Amino acid sequence: MIILKSLRRFSDLKLKLSPHQLYITQGKGTERPFMGDHWWVKDTGTYYCIVCEQKLFPSHYKFFPDTGRCHFFASEDGATRLSGDNPKDQEVQCSGCGSHLGHFHPEGPAPTHVQYVIESGSLSFKEKPWFTVPPTRRALKQPRREAKALLKKQKEAEREEQRLKAVEENKLIKQKAHEELLKQHEENRKNKEQKKKQDNQGDQKNQNNEEEEANKPKSE
Ligand SMILES: [Zn+2]
Repeated sequence: MIILKSLRRFSDLKLKLSPHQLYITQGKGTERPFMGDHWWVKDTGTYYCIVCEQKLFPSHYKFFPDTGRCHFFASEDGATRLSGDNPKDQEVQCSGCGSHLGHFHPEGPAPTHVQYVIESGSLSFKEKPWFTVPPTRRALKQPRREAKALLKKQKEAEREEQRLKAVEENKLIKQKAHEELLKQHEENRKNKEQKKKQDNQGDQKNQNNEEEEANKPKSE
């Protein structure tokens, strides 16, 4: 049932979106920088989700670091959500339909010090020259909080990595020491054997000599 539903949704989307938009929003695609429709646009208005037409980013949340992509320092209240297991690579999704929008970076310019790097192919833009509302306090706080949580997760992951590395190194050191010990044992054993052999040979020689000595006077 779910498969049927998603198939139907996909075929509906196929009619609605261009292949590029389909690739970005449903296939989590990445577009080449400077190739999208919106990264350079400085007009006043609002950016919407291309799939479900949810309001995502007001144009005055946008900034222009010349990377050839759309950068926003916040989204509309609750319009996006973050997803992904890797704290270093968090995906930005539309909270309305779950479409892929771009990626989130926990470092950025004021006022939130974070950035949403969004693919042009996931956005539609409606110009509204007279319409600018300053961002709400919550809209500014939310991304900052998310960034903090992310940075904490990143640090934890790094610490865990270091711990695992230390454990691995310790293991190697122990293994080396063990191998060294085994080698020494083997050498000791070999030395002992050789000594025994030499002693045996010496005994035999002595015995032989003694026998010869014993035989000599008889033959004379
Ligand atoms: Zn959407």
